[in-house]
Amino acid sequence: MNDNPFFELFSKQQQNQFAVGNTTYKQRLKKLNTLQQAIEVTYRSQIQEALQMDLGKPVVEAELTEIYAIIGDIKHAKKHLRQWMKKQSVETPLSMLGSSSYITYEPKGVCLIISPWNFPFNLTFGPLVSAIAAGNTAIIKPSEMTPNSSSLMAKIIEDVFPEDEVALVEGEVEVSTELLKLPFNHIFFTGSPKVGKIVMEAASKHLASVTLELGGKSPTIVDKTANIDKAAKKIMWAKFLNCGQICVSPDYVLIDESVKLPFIKSCKKWLQTFYNDNPKASDSYGNIVTDKHFERLSSYLENAKTLNAKFEVGGETDSSSKFIEPTIISDLKPEAKLLEEEIFGPILPIVTYESLDMAIAYVNSKPRPLALYIYSKSKTNTNKILNNTRAGGSCINNSVLHYANHNLPFGGTNNSGIGKSHGFFGFKAFSNERSVLKQHTFGVTELLFPPYSGFKEKLARLTIKWF
Ligand code: NAD
Repeated sequence: MNDNPFFELFSKQQQNQFAVGNTTYKQRLKKLNTLQQAIEVTYRSQIQEALQMDLGKPVVEAELTEIYAIIGDIKHAKKHLRQWMKKQSVETPLSMLGSSSYITYEPKGVCLIISPWNFPFNLTFGPLVSAIAAGNTAIIKPSEMTPNSSSLMAKIIEDVFPEDEVALVEGEVEVSTELLKLPFNHIFFTGSPKVGKIVMEAASKHLASVTLELGGKSPTIVDKTANIDKAAKKIMWAKFLNCGQICVSPDYVLIDESVKLPFIKSCKKWLQTFYNDNPKASDSYGNIVTDKHFERLSSYLENAKTLNAKFEVGGETDSSSKFIEPTIISDLKPEAKLLEEEIFGPILPIVTYESLDMAIAYVNSKPRPLALYIYSKSKTNTNKILNNTRAGGSCINNSVLHYANHNLPFGGTNNSGIGKSHGFFGFKAFSNERSVLKQHTFGVTELLFPPYSGFKEKLARLTIKWF
């Protein structure tokens, strides 16, 4: 008897996995439609309310970065699913004459999806869309930090799916720990690199495959050829969206020192345009998710003050409303916490460089980021940065938006993640690419079966030389 509290649920899904896995294109389409209806219509206003309660998320942001993002994922999957599910024929080498080969995308089986709090709906339902499209069953464990969103998601899942197909369990870290003991076929984790390592260690016990969507410090390089005002506008939008609580948020700006002052001047102008003089009263600005994260970010500000850094903009905080003003800080010492840890909040450090080589060396001195943004009009500089750094993804003269193109794989590299998601890449993450070779007629390889003779030796040599 297994005493894991989720063993029974897991077993039900395990027993059901082939029935779910053998569903047709039309049956999967129906599931995606039902989920779309629930999110787009039935629960839409409740989703907005839950996000307001958990994160103070403005309605427009909830619509664009959560509801639209999921609906976009569903529509893209529906449009391409028939094609994705088709077996793909591959070429047959001459030495294998008489056979044909293809790849079939079979479901991995029973999957675990662990999601974070910053885009609770998007980062839970996004992977789920890929899991369903690929024909899997799934158990979901959302973040305990956004309880209103998590309990609403539990309601939606219960409403849309039988539990032997998709189930959601709420709870704290202990729940994740118990789930991770079960022999899932695939684990899709979105969260911090620290917990990613725990997930990967647990997965190794059963050799479950993993997709790890992690985070880290994503740099933004602004060179002296960039359109500074446009760069400032886009960076201010991307940095303070969701209060900086985005995995692909520009973590820090690396800027040519000759353009630092006009850049900061433009940043101030755009912040004023976006959030007025009083961001606390702005309907377009959110709050920090929990007291713990508020304290973590406040301690970074204290640390910067102690090190005599220059507060170019903001710095004001209010613990009662978990408010942190959009803040820009320069002249930070290398040991400042803001330059060491992923910020994941509305504080932007500005670091200057004298040469592009120095900027590249700085990026490469840190773990590989999830995103790296380049603002430049110079093709040479842009290529130099792209060719001499490594990152999960990049935007040139923009930030964050590469995340939204379903045709691009999304994910990190090493410390920022393993594996990719979105669109076909998400479908592949939840599929086993099974190789199938079918023998139709006599195969020439049979000529090489034992007993070996001088003739077969010659034939083997000819095969190596010509085929
Ligand atoms: P987190 O790693 O603390 O938590 C993520 C999930 O893991 C939650 O559901 C949590 O309950 C669970 N968890 C926490 N500790 C655990 C443990 N010891 N064992 C098992 N499970 C555990 O991350 P977070 O604070 O929710 O989110 C912020 C982090 O996620 C940032 O690093 C951010 O960059 C990253 N992130 C990445 C992406 C991406 O797509 N790459 C998206 C959003 C957030």
